[in-house]
Amino acid sequence: MSDAPSPVPPALAPGSTVGILGGGQLGRMLSQAASRLGFDVVILDPEENSPAGRVSRGQIVAAYDDPTALNVFGRVCDVVTFEFENVPARSVELLAEAGARVAPGPRALAVAQDRILEKTFLNEAGAPTVEFAMVDDLPSLETALQVIPLPALLKTRREGYDGKGQVWIKSVKQAAAAWASIGERPAVLEARALFVRELSIICARGWDGKTAVYPLGWNTHKGGVLKTTVAPAEVDSKTERRARAIARAVLEQLDYVGVLGIELFDLGESRLLVNEIAPRVHNTGHWTQDGCVCDQFEQHIRAITGWPLGPTAAHAHVEMTNLLGEDIDQWEKLAGNSDRRLHLYGKGEARPGRKMAHVNRVRPL
Ligand code: AMP
Repeated sequence: MSDAPSPVPPALAPGSTVGILGGGQLGRMLSQAASRLGFDVVILDPEENSPAGRVSRGQIVAAYDDPTALNVFGRVCDVVTFEFENVPARSVELLAEAGARVAPGPRALAVAQDRILEKTFLNEAGAPTVEFAMVDDLPSLETALQVIPLPALLKTRREGYDGKGQVWIKSVKQAAAAWASIGERPAVLEARALFVRELSIICARGWDGKTAVYPLGWNTHKGGVLKTTVAPAEVDSKTERRARAIARAVLEQLDYVGVLGIELFDLGESRLLVNEIAPRVHNTGHWTQDGCVCDQFEQHIRAITGWPLGPTAAHAHVEMTNLLGEDIDQWEKLAGNSDRRLHLYGKGEARPGRKMAHVNRVRPL
């Protein structure tokens, strides 16, 4: 975790190899963007035949912490990135030791993997969050419940996503049950954000410190999972400026390289809180595929390979809808709509709630 400025490496030429840790849909769309820029892509994922592996030059089938696999991966790739943030820190070190450039770097990963580190970092960076308290055991939860107003949200410190590992607490009497329901794991107790809507901002930074920020998206969730993003969101200029300032501060203070997603609570009257940051391409940035000349996937590949960042202005209005589980059965009907573009992830089994595809409904600006 050094604060020394990163050296600016030369841009990788087409034909170089990009490695992606993770073979899901984000890896797949990153791989497709990279191959369009002339790069070869290798995926590392424990699941054979992953969605990303099937559109890439190759896949190493191994656990994310397998030292031999990481050594080979690090040696064949000129730059390595990831599509999910729970990559073990040790894996990133092993890749760097094998000679690969890794972006985003270990600091961004460490911060995004731990909700307490994340909120502490954000507040120090001038990006306010909800009030929160650290919870390590039942007595500390009971103490936190004296400080954080009810209802409050108990979230595991690590490895929570899409609303998993979270429980609302409405009265102090629910403390023991809530603690048990999150598996008695280290946690954070959060005050409820009284938001009028949820927004997000997708931004990028290159090795040279240049930044690029997309217009805001307005997000709706169902059962803790993103359902829709409408972008560019209608926001007043003060909110837009505030969100952009937050994005730049976060990118700069993490010495970040790549695309980063920031989830925001809009409290009204141009007041924003940061819910969380994701050190990767983000589901709320899928609208850029059909709303911008350079989408978030290409932007990420440009950033990590040292290419100039692409333009971020919207040329269309997009409503992105996630297709979960059996929603995918509508593919044929959706494919017949002239104002919608379907993005399917090539996943076999449509288990309930599984992200199978998204559809972008496009209107002129
Ligand atoms: P997360 O996993 O932290 O992204 O949370 C998933 C969703 O839960 C968010 O998009 C919000 O809709 C809701 N949520 C999370 N934290 C809070 C909070 N402190 N107050 C109100 N709603 C929240």
